[in-house]
Amino acid sequence: MKDIIIVGGGLAGLTSSIYLASAGYNVTILEKNSHFGGKMMDVNVGSYHFDFGPNTITMPHVFQQVMEEAGLNSEDYFSFQQLETHTRNSFGDGFSFDLSSSHRYMLEQLKRLDPKGANSYKQFIQQITRLYSYSEQHFLHRTFESWQDYLSPKLASALMKVKPNISMHDFMKQYFENPKIIQALDRYATYIGSNPYVAPATFAMIAYLELVDGVYYVKGGNTNIAKGLTAAAEKLGVNLYPNTPVSKLVIKDKRVTGVTLHNNTTLEAEEVIMNGDLLKQYPELVEESARPHFTNKRADSYEPSISAFVILAGLNKQMDGLHHHHVFFTKNYEKEFKQLSDGYYPSSPTIYVCTSSKTDPPVSPDGDNCFILVNAPALTDNGITLDKEAYKQRVYDRLKAFGQDIQPHVVEEQVYTPEDIEEQFGSYKGSIYGPASNRKVDAFRRPYNKSQDLENLYFVGASTHPGGGSPMVVLSGKNVAHSIIEKDK
Ligand SMILES: Cc1cc2nc3c(=O)[nH]c(=O)nc-3n(C[C@H](O)[C@H](O)[C@H](O)COP(=O)(O)OP(=O)(O)OC[C@H]3O[C@@H](n4cnc5c(N)ncnc54)[C@H](O)[C@@H]3O)c2cc1C
Repeated sequence: MKDIIIVGGGLAGLTSSIYLASAGYNVTILEKNSHFGGKMMDVNVGSYHFDFGPNTITMPHVFQQVMEEAGLNSEDYFSFQQLETHTRNSFGDGFSFDLSSSHRYMLEQLKRLDPKGANSYKQFIQQITRLYSYSEQHFLHRTFESWQDYLSPKLASALMKVKPNISMHDFMKQYFENPKIIQALDRYATYIGSNPYVAPATFAMIAYLELVDGVYYVKGGNTNIAKGLTAAAEKLGVNLYPNTPVSKLVIKDKRVTGVTLHNNTTLEAEEVIMNGDLLKQYPELVEESARPHFTNKRADSYEPSISAFVILAGLNKQMDGLHHHHVFFTKNYEKEFKQLSDGYYPSSPTIYVCTSSKTDPPVSPDGDNCFILVNAPALTDNGITLDKEAYKQRVYDRLKAFGQDIQPHVVEEQVYTPEDIEEQFGSYKGSIYGPASNRKVDAFRRPYNKSQDLENLYFVGASTHPGGGSPMVVLSGKNVAHSIIEKDK
């Protein structure tokens, strides 16, 4: 059977490996870090467990299917628990609003807080369900390998129906009137690293995932998904090499014949899949002359999604009033996105705190495990340098102003900046979701899943189709594996 090399062992690469190994291919994953799972990374400090990366899990069936379709029982690897009322949104003036997949509870709150929203909630749910179902039918379960893939009349008609012409913010305003509720729903744009004031309403389908399909947590930590996929790959005979950075692809006659490792060893392969961030990895590993359809200029033409400033804080107590998913909003959300798009850190940032110990106390027996995330600009060369300590202090001070004075209780702490994210995962400019989807064409202009220049080179992961976020990258891994299997039939 064919030898396949996957460069990078993130969720997408692991998924491809599982499908290909179970179809009989000889698969090798070369991963530069010591762990597999990429941004879905276990961080254990003292007695505190943190899920770095995906804290909000949607579409559990996508992860379960990988296991089931490889003949494995997903429950042996990870089990999902639905969080019905999943996210508390708090505002500086004491206003608070929960997001829930219970329609009854949503209506109860809206009747009090947003009468227009209460009247139109049913219609809103129908519309976001429609958006999701178009995406599911036309975008999520297929690869995009060349421009011809966009030409099918069915796809063109679907594209017109997914509301690419209005922004997500304007879409939300059609159904809701309370600016704070609109702000809480606008935040869904950040799930793809984008700006709600410009990202097309197409992405309101994310609201469908949270408000209809549900938000999930994996018992023992979401990183059990990455550990489960790694264990499954190993069981199916995938050769897993951690601490093995690839420095070059070997190219002959428009084909990749193998890869060169940092120690100059060359490994041969008949097909190669790149899982690292394409915008950074493709230019780094393949000489520009071998990729005329993807020049450095083209790579630079993509706008990176936003990055993150993350504090992992282990506390010596359980904080009252802190929810598993809790967002503390800035007063002026538009200003926050303007600062981000200008390359600045928000002066008064919205703060997301995920405390999984609220649902699963054993992951952090000595107190809360707060994963604190603030939107940060992708790296630019505008000369702005971050004073990490001062910014961290600002975040703690803002939480204190919201009544969550956690800083005196911090006993373990780690801080990650966009520079760290770029360095650790090889992310383009530190972006966390690949290219942004701010312009209406962006969503449909992501790099293809297959190289236009090298016959046997494929791309999976957040910077390609169908997009960023953990379920999407798993779908990209699956779609590319299927494409290789189909080609060989
Ligand atoms: C702080 C943060 C919060 C997030 N929150 C959420 C969330 O709540 N929900 C959600 O669904 N998603 C979230 N995401 C996004 C999600 O983590 C990513 O979309 C997803 O994990 C990306 O997976 P991937 O397989 O595309 O790539 P990655 O996870 O980036 O994996 C790529 C791998 O390739 C390796 N690599 C790169 N170059 C080389 C090389 N030359 N040689 C060998 N190996 C190489 C890297 O080390 C890495 O392990 C978040 C991400 C971050 C950073």
